Amino acid sequence: MASAVITVPSFATNEDGVEHFFGTRMSSVSVTPGRSSTTQGTRGDRAATVMLSVKQVHGTDALVVDQPIRQGESFEGGWDALVTNQPGVMVTVRTADCVPVLLHDPVQRVVAAVHAGWRGAVAGIVPRTVALLVRRFGATAERLRMAIGPSAGPCCYEVDEPVLARLREAFPEWRSVVEPVGTQKAHLDLRAFVRRQGLADGLQAERIVTVNACTICHPDLFFSYRREGVVKATMVSGIALVPHR
Ligand SMILES: [Zn+2]
Repeated sequence: MASAVITVPSFATNEDGVEHFFGTRMSSVSVTPGRSSTTQGTRGDRAATVMLSVKQVHGTDALVVDQPIRQGESFEGGWDALVTNQPGVMVTVRTADCVPVLLHDPVQRVVAAVHAGWRGAVAGIVPRTVALLVRRFGATAERLRMAIGPSAGPCCYEVDEPVLARLREAFPEWRSVVEPVGTQKAHLDLRAFVRRQGLADGLQAERIVTVNACTICHPDLFFSYRREGVVKATMVSGIALVPHR
């Protein structure tokens, strides 16, 4: 279904009944940015997958898909997290510096894809999505698996005082995820921030994996809004429960 994608076997494999990927700029997966789309994914000779993509708004709300959906169906609104317990529905997010986060509970059979930029992360999109998985689907934090994908890295991601002020407000341990540059700026490690939020929620360290790849300093692999100054294109990352095991 996609070439040149990053998968993390220690996060999930088809044996776990879960298919996932983090996109690169060479990926063949395409969705329509800025609006909802459901397209047919191809899964080789196995059962078909419907790939769901929605408008992202740098918020913290999740779209929950707990009924079968069909190709061509669309969802009006904006969401930065997509959650489903429906086998064959691949929930996707688009990123180009923001952090794609994938989650699954192997027992309750529920998956989530999260788009976490600094705004969404500071506003708590990851803890909110974890809480939703627990409350609505009976997942447990101890069992949840989390994969944190390629994003702007601490090597390159400079943020200024307004961002730091919000981070300090939201996260008492903010010092552990920033490296000061002078007095007004710092390099922010968004992936570490998301990981710390997961740990604070009770996720087990050994069940959180991070793809330590920076979108800004790897132009050969990734699109980057920061590097390119415009959103040329985005990477698509997704996760699905494998149907008909
Ligand atoms: Zn970098």
